[in-house]
Amino acid sequence: MRVRTGKQRGEASRAGGPPATSEQAPGRPRALALTDLLIVGAGPAGCAAAVAARRAVPSLRVMVIDAARFPRDKLCAGAISGGGLRELAAAGLLLRVPHAVATHAVVKCEGKASRVPLPYPSAVVRRLEFDADLLSQVRASGAVVLEGVALHGLAGSVAQTSSGAIRYRALIAADGVGGASRRSLGLPAGVRVPVREVHLESARQQDLFFDLDAGMPGYVWRFPCLKGACLSETSGVFAAVRGAKVGPALERFFQREDLAVAAPERGAIRLFEPGGAVGKGTALLAGEALGVDPLAGEGIRYALWSGRIAGRRSVRALERGRAPSLLGYRTALRASHSGVVLELAARLAKRLYGPNARYRQLAADRRVAEFLAALISGDGKAGVWLRLAVQLPSIWAAAGAPTV
Ligand SMILES: Cc1cc2nc3c(=O)[nH]c(=O)nc-3n(C[C@H](O)[C@H](O)[C@H](O)COP(=O)(O)OP(=O)(O)OC[C@H]3O[C@@H](n4cnc5c(N)ncnc54)[C@H](O)[C@@H]3O)c2cc1C
Repeated sequence: MRVRTGKQRGEASRAGGPPATSEQAPGRPRALALTDLLIVGAGPAGCAAAVAARRAVPSLRVMVIDAARFPRDKLCAGAISGGGLRELAAAGLLLRVPHAVATHAVVKCEGKASRVPLPYPSAVVRRLEFDADLLSQVRASGAVVLEGVALHGLAGSVAQTSSGAIRYRALIAADGVGGASRRSLGLPAGVRVPVREVHLESARQQDLFFDLDAGMPGYVWRFPCLKGACLSETSGVFAAVRGAKVGPALERFFQREDLAVAAPERGAIRLFEPGGAVGKGTALLAGEALGVDPLAGEGIRYALWSGRIAGRRSVRALERGRAPSLLGYRTALRASHSGVVLELAARLAKRLYGPNARYRQLAADRRVAEFLAALISGDGKAGVWLRLAVQLPSIWAAAGAPTV
């Protein structure tokens, strides 16, 4: 490994050039690579953070490490809402891979199905291609990308990785649900809920279909997707609480829909907790390291959103010779459109998936489904909220007053 002097470091910093890379001579102790901002994880959160940081302050060095080599797959239905597509653009990233388009959502609850238009359509991507393409955009932005480099631990401002130590001035933990950064920072693991997903050979579903009658807190989905150049489908189950019986819920759904499928893959999702940790010291949490929307399990939008804000705030603070502020980060997250929607989603999830069954009557109302479709699409116009405010008394009356 080549070690840079302070002077070399300063030059690289001004030029925005790459930091020293690790090439370890056998038998020698491992030396340090250096960077201004270290991003752990190259999923949507890490990529948004890197590109936003490079755009905000091009003179600072940004390094992204990922344990995997790309293209790598990721268990995910790949639906990016209209709100997510707006976050993609806001981060300075482009959607350049083949994708299916969904213009409507169907919400089934209490036996009633409401098909509502999405004011801004969703794109359904294959994560294998999508994430690899985002990473190529990160490289083009001038960030240094190290693949196959896993974070093992953090001590002071030094990250211990599978390829040696990296000294940083600020860090963004974007290593998803199973990464090492939360543990390394001494933060609790958070709320992790089970999910299952399976690919269906059929191609009948062109809408985003959510079945809330899954017999457990959560829903079963059926989304369109692309297999090769052809339309196809995925199905799966999202549990909103720990320990939910997701396997039987999915089996019941397949029986009801008369679908013969292979064994689903198992996974987990970390849920966003309002008021939960957003980082520690000079490290900010982004993406699923922070948590996904607990109402719909939407993670890509919030990965792009928190990654962008974390990336920008980190380098702007470093430029002023400061560490990124956790309070400032929390405030910026809350003040943004996606932040407001996420906090609202967390509140709604508590009620919808909670013990009072009467809240489910609300979800069965078409007007509520329309409001949610607008929010998820990234339609934040005042009219959307005004319409709901006007309709709420009659929706409330139709559902019966909840008791909890
Ligand atoms: C079954 C399922 C279906 C889903 N469907 C959807 C959907 O349709 N729409 C949606 O919006 N969201 C969906 N999600 C959620 C979504 O996949 C995630 O929330 C999203 O990928 C989070 O992005 P991220 O960048 O934070 O993390 P990730 O995309 O998980 O990326 C994290 C990266 O960190 C790397 N990493 C991990 N550990 C280390 C380490 N120690 N050192 C270095 N690198 C490390 C990983 O290799 C990975 O590349 C789904 C999730 C599941 C499980």
